[in-house]
Amino acid sequence: MFDYQAPSQLLDGKIILVTGAGDGIGKTAAITYAKHGATVILLGRTIKKLEAVYDYIEKQQYPQAAIVPLNLDGAVEHDFQELANTIESEFGHIDGILHNASILGERCDLASYDQALFEKVMRVNVTSQLILTQALLPLMQKAKTASIAFTSSGVGRTAKANWGAYAISKFATEAMTQLFASELSTTSPSIRVNAINPGATRTNMRANAFPSEAPETLATPEDIMPLYLYLMGDDSASVNGQSLDAQ
Ligand code: NDP
Repeated sequence: MFDYQAPSQLLDGKIILVTGAGDGIGKTAAITYAKHGATVILLGRTIKKLEAVYDYIEKQQYPQAAIVPLNLDGAVEHDFQELANTIESEFGHIDGILHNASILGERCDLASYDQALFEKVMRVNVTSQLILTQALLPLMQKAKTASIAFTSSGVGRTAKANWGAYAISKFATEAMTQLFASELSTTSPSIRVNAINPGATRTNMRANAFPSEAPETLATPEDIMPLYLYLMGDDSASVNGQSLDAQ
């Protein structure tokens, strides 16, 4: 695992948005950030799941969370701008974004990949993350320092047969990380941009991709949190444009 021991108050006072916060790695990241003092904004498409995370955070007496229901497939620029306006009026600024929500699409060869599904995967995994980042940049510029973490994958560095649109979307995520990191380093040097490769992790997405794999053999979302904490806290203030492995 990435070697980092987070101080318990690492994220005190920070406002952090997590996409796909209702399940899997995003759920654990949201709870972990709240546990370390952050006010988390829970973005996702299934309100019931977001409410369960919200309630858990409240029960633990971590800083009160906020819920933003948004389906990243179908959301348009106006929806992201409204979201930015809501966050601005509620919190004034934002210190971190974890772009975590993604879909797997279909595991099949590219020659027969369905075009509508290809476009959907690219919309959820790439386009929506670009527009969300664009909408929130002005609020990140208001923070003393801010961190954007994208979520990549092993197949975003070396594509493997039958990973289709998902692999292409993760290559695009790596490119988006590098572009934002290098461009913002001159225009907004207080904002750093990096990517996380979680590695094989025990979630629904992994089970769908590898149905015959024994889940007990995999790292849990809790196991991989050190890197997620490191990138959101000030200890990573000088880290920019990196794609790091959580395992
Ligand atoms: P899960 O499928 O378990 O969780 C994904 C989350 O994203 C869910 O909360 C889901 O919401 C949300 N989401 C999906 N589509 C949308 C949408 N259209 N709008 C809003 N929210 C949406 O995935 P993981 O936790 O496994 O993956 C998290 C990230 O890590 C992804 O980017 C994935 O590519 C990456 N990753 C994961 C690996 C693994 O082994 N698990 C390995 C490498 C990378 P809902 O619950 O409503 O479906």
